[in-house]
Amino acid sequence: MKVMKFGGTSVGSPQRMQQVTKLITADTEKKIVVLSAVSGTTNALVEISSLLAKGDRIAAKQKIDTLEAQYQQFIKSLVITPTGINLAENIVKEHFEFLTIILRISYSEALNKDVLAQGELLSTKLFSAYLMEQGIAHKLLPALDFMTIDANDEPQVEAIRTRILSLLGQYPDATLFITQGFICRNAKGEVDNLKRGGSDYSASLIAAAVQASVCEIWTDISGMHNNDPRIVNKTIPIEQLSFDEAAELAYFGAKILHPASIWPAQQYNTPVKLLNTMEPEAKGTLISGQATSSGVKAIAAKDGITAINIKSSRMLLAYGFLRKVFEIFEKYKTPIDMITTSEVAVSVTIDSDASLPAIIKELEAFSTVVVDYNQTIICIVGNEIAATPKSIQQVFESLNEVNVRMVSYGGSAHNISILVAAELKKQVLQQLNSGLFGL
Ligand code: ASP
Ligand code: MG
Repeated sequence: MKVMKFGGTSVGSPQRMQQVTKLITADTEKKIVVLSAVSGTTNALVEISSLLAKGDRIAAKQKIDTLEAQYQQFIKSLVITPTGINLAENIVKEHFEFLTIILRISYSEALNKDVLAQGELLSTKLFSAYLMEQGIAHKLLPALDFMTIDANDEPQVEAIRTRILSLLGQYPDATLFITQGFICRNAKGEVDNLKRGGSDYSASLIAAAVQASVCEIWTDISGMHNNDPRIVNKTIPIEQLSFDEAAELAYFGAKILHPASIWPAQQYNTPVKLLNTMEPEAKGTLISGQATSSGVKAIAAKDGITAINIKSSRMLLAYGFLRKVFEIFEKYKTPIDMITTSEVAVSVTIDSDASLPAIIKELEAFSTVVVDYNQTIICIVGNEIAATPKSIQQVFESLNEVNVRMVSYGGSAHNISILVAAELKKQVLQQLNSGLFGL
């Protein structure tokens, strides 16, 4: 059994859905196909929901109508038989009637989740209508019947496994299943979701739960590259990555794979393959438990970083200073990405400034604080690179003349991270590209 996940652009038009059909019927292996919402839909639903939260029903209704018109257009080129058209029209009607009813109910967080769920429900049902018209046997598996999160909003593979296996058991002869990404039920039994971009996460949880041979993530890019193709002149595709390398990169390369998708795959040892719907023959990137090479594999950058330097003369020979610092970040639910320390000071980076003023205020009670905004983390990833003297030497030689604000080395054997001012990003990525890859 394999899992194939298609993102919003891969199901973004009737032609794309036809392309997906070719891909999922190319072999006879039993499969679960996970779909995102049609591209743009979840954004539109987020807007509708925030208009409802503000009480602006007129604007919300307008948005709902515009979206409905887009779906009417969509189904016109998706299905052609009277039965197919009737089915697709009823699906669109059902979900837009639901949205219209919601307009009359007073807004709540639970309602917001119901609104957001409509995208994946629509895409999977319409896709199923198309498959039916094409005479392709399949079963629609409702994600709300098996995908769950616990009271801490965490999915548990074992719980998902029990439910999905019992559902699959009801159709022993079926070989093709279609389900929704992103949506789930929370501990209260309400409709909820795995956060934006969460369809990848759904796919990897399902793959882990059913012990799939592979979890294929189909997008519109041919796998991961060694560097950002939008910034440097030349990049090379990466054919293989270990889970450890992928985990280091996913946070930075989040555009291609949701970072949370790595843990279920790694824990249950399910290989993940990143493939391109538009170029199905391209090799893509295989992420597995195997570390196939040593040396630097890839470089990625994350913008919008704030560095905070916290200095205390009392840190000298004192214990408990770091605990006090970390507790403040914890109190404001602000994750720290990079950290470096000296005898009297510590520098940390964060990627969300939301609680920064409050954090600074509390830190200033026992230290001197200096903040640098507009920083970029450059992350250099490769199996065991931090334990390979040659790699370290090459990294620092490539950084010749660059003003580096922080270096994080030794935290993971597979990562060396540096922090530079955002305006240096392009230059640094290019210098590392030449120094480490000869590109
Ligand atoms: N449709 C959801 C979103 O746009 C989930 C996904 O596409 O992965 O965030
Ligand atoms: Mg996505």
